[in-house]
Amino acid sequence: MQLISHAPTGPIEHSWDKHKFNLKLINPANKRKYNIIVVGSGLAGGAAAASLGELGYNVQCFCYQDSPRRAHSIAAQGGINAAKNYHNDGDSIYRLFYDTVKGGDFRAREANVYRLAQVSVNIIDQCVAQGVPFAREYGGLLDNRSFGGAQVSRTFYARGQTGQQLLLGAYQALERQIGLGAVKMYPRMDMLDLIVVDGQARGIVTRSLYDGKIEVHMADAVVLATGGYGNVFYLSTNAKGCNATAIWRAYKRGALFANPCFTQIHPTCIPVAGEYQSKLTLMSESLRNDGRIWVPKTPGDKRAPSSIPESERDYYLERRYPSFGNLVPRDIASRAAKAECDAGRGVGESGLGVYLDLSEAIQRLGKRTIAERYGNLIEMYERITGENPYEVPMRIYPASHYTMGGLWVDYNLMSTIPGLFVLGEANFSDHGANRLGASALMQGLADGYFIIPYTIGNYLATAKPPKVAADAPAAKDAVANASAITKKLLNGNGKRTVDSFHRELGKIVWDNCGMGRNEAGLKKALSQIPVLREEFWKNVRVLGANEEFNQSLERAGRVADFFELAELMCLDALDRRESCGGHFREEYQTPEGEALRDDANYSYVAAWGYQGENHAPALTKEPLTFNYVHPSQRSYK
Ligand SMILES: Cc1cc2nc3c(=O)[nH]c(=O)nc-3n(C[C@H](O)[C@H](O)[C@H](O)COP(=O)(O)OP(=O)(O)OC[C@H]3O[C@@H](n4cnc5c(N)ncnc54)[C@H](O)[C@@H]3O)c2cc1C
Repeated sequence: MQLISHAPTGPIEHSWDKHKFNLKLINPANKRKYNIIVVGSGLAGGAAAASLGELGYNVQCFCYQDSPRRAHSIAAQGGINAAKNYHNDGDSIYRLFYDTVKGGDFRAREANVYRLAQVSVNIIDQCVAQGVPFAREYGGLLDNRSFGGAQVSRTFYARGQTGQQLLLGAYQALERQIGLGAVKMYPRMDMLDLIVVDGQARGIVTRSLYDGKIEVHMADAVVLATGGYGNVFYLSTNAKGCNATAIWRAYKRGALFANPCFTQIHPTCIPVAGEYQSKLTLMSESLRNDGRIWVPKTPGDKRAPSSIPESERDYYLERRYPSFGNLVPRDIASRAAKAECDAGRGVGESGLGVYLDLSEAIQRLGKRTIAERYGNLIEMYERITGENPYEVPMRIYPASHYTMGGLWVDYNLMSTIPGLFVLGEANFSDHGANRLGASALMQGLADGYFIIPYTIGNYLATAKPPKVAADAPAAKDAVANASAITKKLLNGNGKRTVDSFHRELGKIVWDNCGMGRNEAGLKKALSQIPVLREEFWKNVRVLGANEEFNQSLERAGRVADFFELAELMCLDALDRRESCGGHFREEYQTPEGEALRDDANYSYVAAWGYQGENHAPALTKEPLTFNYVHPSQRSYK
């Protein structure tokens, strides 16, 4: 298979405009003849469904929560980037483009990243028009703060609840279209399979989470905006329901999966407290604007932080990276924290923690300002740990947070299955091997509000998908497949819980394909995962029945998919014999311990294709070329 990106050629600053002009249009009266399925109602899916409804298409939108407004995007805390240059501090579309390509360690497609930077400015206007209450400065202008990997302030925020406010904006736009009858909403529906007819995506199979009813939904195109797969690690900052099922089952129907090993470990999470913990909590990267990160200089120093004098503290990020200091990108900050803890300088009972200290900022700005900026985060931290960050430094440690990998898409956000579009965290598109903070919300909304409305019309106008009946053989086959998986999970009469398997799988992936990876560990994981997967199918116990609200069954299906995805992640990580961004192969590092890329051999997107059960997936490469931001050793010193 050859991967064609359809990225336009010519000057990059005109490429999106030129591309849009060349896309075919559907006249307003004809749009209502097309049905579009959108799976997902987070920022990417919600924005897409609302925009497509507004354009006049018939949209069916699905989510597994009881309301679209509970999509995981609601958890996003810190902010959303846009190259508005309100602070007059040197920002521009080109600088956001440059920072993002460099931040992703030169493993993203330049044309996509430029477009993202370009439309970032429209997103803010759109959201303000919707009434999103972004923080404002005294004079009334929108305020900005800084996030990792940038030396300008370009992050728009609504305290520590940016995702919630943005999602409420998208949700209102979606509800308006639901009210107008342009969008039909299907909450509490789990997409279990993709229906592919004559090579085109033509529908989905869903299971109602209320009563287990399996249904077929047909359409002219399918949009997946189903979020990331960070829960493969079991412990992560993602909501418990986040899963890979929709994209994984699409992969098994022929969509290529790109860069599965590119996962993001976020440096500022509340450390794990015990073996039976099931969820981790993020402390937003925004705290690194004002929080200073340090460890005691002496290994094993167990004194209370207030008893450790300045001279015996190591502000290791400020020391190692004087230009960016505490605002180095996430991959670098995470590895640096791990290195300190590995050297015995970690804090807290487990030794797996570093301090994030707001005391200097409180002295400088006053408690009130800090509370205005981060109040809800500080309160959340105190509720979880019982410690008051206004008085003692927070303890933080890296945790699984985001996945840069996802289904491969071209410049039009279409996967390798014609008619299947993938948006937001579910695709692989714009962040390369490491996503910069505050760029996921930007990408999800760019995809949903500003890209898919153009590109899907072009597909429909050119492909002219013929009518297909809901009882077509491909639909029946997908129903049979979904029902068989459910039945198999319920029929097993094993002894172990779904969670116990998930926890064990997550530990294998974290230990061997987490912050650090090496050949021996990855090979070990690749031998352990299939054994555990086999035991899962023999020995899992799923209580309850299909015809009821059954979260154990729901989770079991997701964990079954995580088993397969975990294997692909390790395979991809083993195959990529270089370090880049979040993919840190311990064998490939600079003398200073930074990621060492191998551009001559690995400057490509690795896209994996399913070849059937018990067959190795096939690797197809999309070569990456850099005409504007030339690859160099990333330096934040
Ligand atoms: C704690 C936390 C804080 C964050 N803070 C920031 C931040 O400050 N700035 C930033 O840029 N990014 C942040 N991120 C990342 C960002 O929130 C996510 O990448 C982004 O919100 C993902 O949006 P999405 O629309 O792609 O997916 P989601 O919001 O995850 O939505 C997925 C949708 O798909 C549906 N779905 C999934 N599977 C199925 C299925 N099988 N069947 C039916 N429906 C399905 C769900 O119901 C949901 O509606 C944060 C992430 C976390 C975990």
